Amino acid sequence: MYLAIILGMMGFAYYYPLPNICDKTVSYTIGSIDSRFNLTRMQVLENIKEAERYWETATGQDLFTYNPTAEKPITIQMVYDERQAIASEVNTEKSAVNQDKSTLQSRIDDFKKRSDELDKKVQSFNDKVSNWNKSSTQTEEEYGKLVAEQTELEQLTKQISAEARTLQLTTNDINTKIEQLNGNITTLQTVVKSKPEEGLFESASKTISIYYNNSQQELIHTIEHELGHGLGLDHLSNPLSIMYVQSNDTLIPTTDDVHAVSLICKKETFIDRIKTKRWKQTVRTVLNDIMYK
Ligand SMILES: [Zn+2]
Repeated sequence: MYLAIILGMMGFAYYYPLPNICDKTVSYTIGSIDSRFNLTRMQVLENIKEAERYWETATGQDLFTYNPTAEKPITIQMVYDERQAIASEVNTEKSAVNQDKSTLQSRIDDFKKRSDELDKKVQSFNDKVSNWNKSSTQTEEEYGKLVAEQTELEQLTKQISAEARTLQLTTNDINTKIEQLNGNITTLQTVVKSKPEEGLFESASKTISIYYNNSQQELIHTIEHELGHGLGLDHLSNPLSIMYVQSNDTLIPTTDDVHAVSLICKKETFIDRIKTKRWKQTVRTVLNDIMYK
């Protein structure tokens, strides 16, 4: 009879749903945040919570919880590397160049206006001189006026020429800055190509490292992607998916993403697992320890 009970229990175990990652929420905590990102821990947490909300809204499930005191939570850290350093430099240079360009443009507009005005004045002066030359009643007074006007126009012409030289020098200066900026952009592109991952999830140490982002939206996207790995998701082939291998700035999980979560959260028995051969997949995930984004 005991044997029957044991066999019965074993049979029950075969058909009893196996525990999976969705039984409890996945806990996470915040690790070290390099100060050069200029983000407080509170701001980092807000971005993570935003990423969490996108997953939870799309799937209708409570998947993640910020819980520093949990047993082995996923640690999310922000590691500053040369890409972020060059990207910050590029952004600073870009805004400086844009500022210089807009200041220069308004000076050029002003210069054109003044130069057109001068042209008109010169034209009108030349007309007066030609009339004077043709006139039979040339007075001393009128002559004096013409000489005074000529002196004034010569001075204006000198001023305008000097301004033109300054504008040329400023333009050269801005062009040099643009060349430097383009050089830095090329360096950034090369470095990004050699290190394409913006974030990394290491399953052995349960650590998410965020290295680089171009915007807050991209940062939230990267956290969302790595949290997906933290949940056990693999990459998907849909380029719009959060779990697509290359970075983008989408935030709303696609139906593929939601489907991938539902597969992970699906209640399976031992028999189901054998049937669906999901064990093989589990092993692959474990071997595939480090997943690059
Ligand atoms: Zn990835």
